[in-house]
Amino acid sequence: MDPYSENSNNSHQDVSGLPTVASGSNSSPAATSGPSRYENQKRRDWNTFCQYLRNHHPPLFLSQCSGANVLEFLCYLDQFGKTKVHNLICPFYGHPNPPAPCPCPLKQAWGSLDALIGRLRAAYEENGGLPDTNPFGARAVKLYLREIRDQQSKARGVSYEKKKRKRLAPQQDDNILEFQETK
Ligand SMILES: [Zn+2]
Repeated sequence: MDPYSENSNNSHQDVSGLPTVASGSNSSPAATSGPSRYENQKRRDWNTFCQYLRNHHPPLFLSQCSGANVLEFLCYLDQFGKTKVHNLICPFYGHPNPPAPCPCPLKQAWGSLDALIGRLRAAYEENGGLPDTNPFGARAVKLYLREIRDQQSKARGVSYEKKKRKRLAPQQDDNILEFQETK
């Protein structure tokens, strides 16, 4: 059963509108009514993060994980990003639709990172982590995300103010971690 086939036009589900945790049962998530897209994504994100920890040099254990390690993880993800973020010196700095290519780097869109952190934060506690030590809820992570949001909104000429319509940036992709699974 492919859970994706059920709602083929799932564009961008607003994560915040979903109930957080399905009460603690750790049994097979496919057992009951079928996991939501959000739950699937969360599980994949979590697996990817755990894999990142295992491949880390020196190896990291979840129990030692801090906000700093989470930031490291987010920076690591930038190499797979698809969102052009202009440098200050780029002539297209602040242009939402640049007329020509430029050598500025591609990064993960702020919206993707923000949603990712939300999912991982929930997953951490569902996997037995304590809220007090949740590295995804660390202050440093919040500050980092806020900084990225400001940087990207200026560099890309887009606004992340609360426009509760549709997501603005088409590049924002929930599946930013897909790449690892296919390798
Ligand atoms: Zn540029």
